[in-house]
Amino acid sequence: MSGIYFHIPFCKVKCSYCDFYKTTNISKMSELVSAIKLELWLRKDYLADRSIKTIYFGGGTPSLLSAAQIDSLLKACFSVFDVQDNVEITMEANPDDLNLEYLQSILKIGINRLSIGVQSFSQTDLMLMKRRHNPIQAKNAVKFARQAGFKNISVDLIYGVPSMPFEQWKANLNEVFKMDVQHISAYHLTYHQNTQLWNDLKKGKIQEIEETESVLQFNELTKQAKANNFIHYEISNFSKEVFFSQHNSSYWNQTDYLGLGPSAHSYDKKSRQWNVSSLTHYLLALSHNKIPFESEILEVKERFNDYMITSLRTMWGIDLEYVLSEFGQSYVSHVKNIGKKYSKSNQVILKNNSVKLAQDGMFVSDTIMSEFML
Ligand code: SF4
Repeated sequence: MSGIYFHIPFCKVKCSYCDFYKTTNISKMSELVSAIKLELWLRKDYLADRSIKTIYFGGGTPSLLSAAQIDSLLKACFSVFDVQDNVEITMEANPDDLNLEYLQSILKIGINRLSIGVQSFSQTDLMLMKRRHNPIQAKNAVKFARQAGFKNISVDLIYGVPSMPFEQWKANLNEVFKMDVQHISAYHLTYHQNTQLWNDLKKGKIQEIEETESVLQFNELTKQAKANNFIHYEISNFSKEVFFSQHNSSYWNQTDYLGLGPSAHSYDKKSRQWNVSSLTHYLLALSHNKIPFESEILEVKERFNDYMITSLRTMWGIDLEYVLSEFGQSYVSHVKNIGKKYSKSNQVILKNNSVKLAQDGMFVSDTIMSEFML
């Protein structure tokens, strides 16, 4: 089974930390919807397995699209592919786009999972991150989603923010666990090159928080998640039983996916493709029935490295039987050697033919993953 990803690159405002491809020129939404539908038809043979189990609207801000525009993209998808009856259809949304009427209309057309970009319940943090909503809108968005009938709601949070003291992070977690949501994605702030926060950091206008503070915040996150019966199934993702993000899990489980829209990536186990990161070039190419993408064939080493990065992030870890069947005995020996090294410092767990990160290894996962890679 495979996944479909729609990249909707429109944002009313650019958040100060964000390095996703987006544009604040939102005048071309209907042209984009038509172009993506055309791309869908042109790429209908990309997926070897045409049975679709997850559809994901990401961005950008998909919640800037009308329900009718989302519906037309879904209908195109259903007409081209064999979409499973129990398909998970996720839409990322900004809190200030979510009123009851809009939420009811998108639920009706088939969106069955919402991922709401709350980030923090502090106005100071939201202003630093240049989010366009306020804490009341964030709380209302989740409340309205539940009232509308959504049964699978995820909330995004960011920690490690310079304006966010430990007590605020704790309060954010208290608030979100009170909300009766099924899933939480919590990411440490990253200073991506050329974002506003990165520039502010370089100019000394803001300072990174201390690593000890970051670890405290991460530990508070895992502690509260555990106390609220959330499963820590991926470094940055927590969910109630059976509410794992199926779409993101398929990225981590090496499932094929087709990405549509400017800057969207696709993967079919043998190669990776990525569309041009320009709305103008994307629309122009599609107006000539062409898809503006680049691609690379994945060699064995790259596929192995991809598997190391993605599997180590999850609670299932590296499956040594899979490594043996896909890559061979020498790769198994390499994984075991590195695993043994980090198990001595209790950062990795070797068990039942799997290699996983322990809690102590999660905060230094980048260093550990780089050792597993070849
Ligand atoms: S974080 Fe989301 S809303 Fe903000 S600029 Fe990036 S894509 Fe747009």
